[in-house]
Amino acid sequence: MNRYIMALDQGTTSSRCIIFDKGGNICAMAQKEFSQIYQRPGWVEHNPKEIWSSQLAVAAEAMAMLGVEAQQISGIGITNQRETTIVWDKNTGEPVYNAIVWQCRRTSDKIEELKKHGLYEIIRQKTGLIPDAYFSASKIAWILENVPGCRERAWAGELLFGTVDTWLIWNLTKGAVHITDYTNASRTMLFDIHKLCWDKEIADYFNIPMIMLPKVCASSRIYGYTDSTALGEGIPIAGAAGDQQAALFGQCCFEPGEVKNTYGTGCFMLMHTGKEAITSKAGLLTTMAACTGSQAEYALEGSVFVAGAAVQWLRDGMRMISSAPKSQEYATQVEDTAGMYMVPAFAGMGAPYWNQYARGTVVGITRGCTKEHFVRAALESIAYQTADVLEAMEKDSGMELKSLKVDGGASANDFLMQFQADIVNTQVRRPECIETTALGAAYLAGLATGYWRDKNEIRQNWQMAAQFDPGMGNEEREKLLKGWHRAVKCALAWAQE
Ligand code: ADP
Repeated sequence: MNRYIMALDQGTTSSRCIIFDKGGNICAMAQKEFSQIYQRPGWVEHNPKEIWSSQLAVAAEAMAMLGVEAQQISGIGITNQRETTIVWDKNTGEPVYNAIVWQCRRTSDKIEELKKHGLYEIIRQKTGLIPDAYFSASKIAWILENVPGCRERAWAGELLFGTVDTWLIWNLTKGAVHITDYTNASRTMLFDIHKLCWDKEIADYFNIPMIMLPKVCASSRIYGYTDSTALGEGIPIAGAAGDQQAALFGQCCFEPGEVKNTYGTGCFMLMHTGKEAITSKAGLLTTMAACTGSQAEYALEGSVFVAGAAVQWLRDGMRMISSAPKSQEYATQVEDTAGMYMVPAFAGMGAPYWNQYARGTVVGITRGCTKEHFVRAALESIAYQTADVLEAMEKDSGMELKSLKVDGGASANDFLMQFQADIVNTQVRRPECIETTALGAAYLAGLATGYWRDKNEIRQNWQMAAQFDPGMGNEEREKLLKGWHRAVKCALAWAQE
């Protein structure tokens, strides 16, 4: 009887399930979008019950597609949108409020307040994060403050908190297991990533009772078993990691200095730093990497807000291209951008600049500029932003990049990947399977159940689909980068007035 591993990939806009075989090949995949709830400007919510029902439905659908029973699934790995916050009643399983999504800005004021109370440095040091409304802590506090009776019920031990992994595991086990993994805990802004425990000082500041927080474990181990009402009885739930950390694992970046960059709506670059938690001096976050053993492992993370979204804007806003892949055709019709640069700071700039007031800028336009140059400048801007994050990572870690593994929708663009290799002067490697997030969750689960023996066996599955070698001269590269940094200065200067 063939056996498989199931990955539940609970993302921001859809729930997906992928069933993999031992070679890391996709055997079945099902996906379902769910509702985005915008009650007010800047607020984003999901219905936790819809998260659960859509996830369960796609899992059942994928099993039916492949014609497999519960006994043929060796384990389930979970990967999820990070930071999104759910609070529910321990006895009834009823959420007390919608899930507050990572994108939601409703608690920005709480973060400003926290800075005034001198907590900024304490949080930075203990959690590795730059305090922001993005992380779970202020979202939990908001629910306890604003949903009538919740604060008292939480202190009485009646309510539970969880990120999406915790919520799914709790439902899969019908309330038997309340657990999260290190990677998800490290995004709550309540977890001490050095001592590996919830931090009382921060929890007290937010008036969050520790009793509602889940137990924290390694990312690869058997947490519990599915209940008979969910997918059939007894499938081990054996792995969990936040989406970006799962992708790092799925790309087989297990050693210090190994880096992956995901080119989606934005870009998320993570560098494995081994057993060392490096505090960034260059605007990056310190976060936990998925760990299979008892010892903690760490990563540096840099996020770029607008990457593939710049291509989307050319398609939908500017109507310059009919589809995202067409961007490559236009970009390669010209030799360069004719001296033009685009800085797509539509919503401020992330790492390493962290300026929320910067705005999109195009500089160096001359009469000869055409649509082709414009499209090329947009693609190049993705590579330049990545180059800035990479430079910050090398500075912080003192490690030189060996090669850059890539994934995500826009990594399919060969022009972009070649330009990326040129501008960072490093080889870029794109794997056969770009579903690295789900694959990472599958690997974590499969290692815990013995489906895969060890990381070496998993490494054999990483097959290269394309390799891009740097071919640009130093002088040319330095000239281009200098132009880019001048363009960034313009985008930042616009914000200062
Ligand atoms: P997410 O998971 O963030 O939704 P995906 O990994 O699905 O993102 O990638 C989608 C993004 O990649 C979109 O913003 C799209 O504009 C961009 N994209 C997709 N294909 C290409 C391509 N061939 N060239 C450039 N950009 C692309």
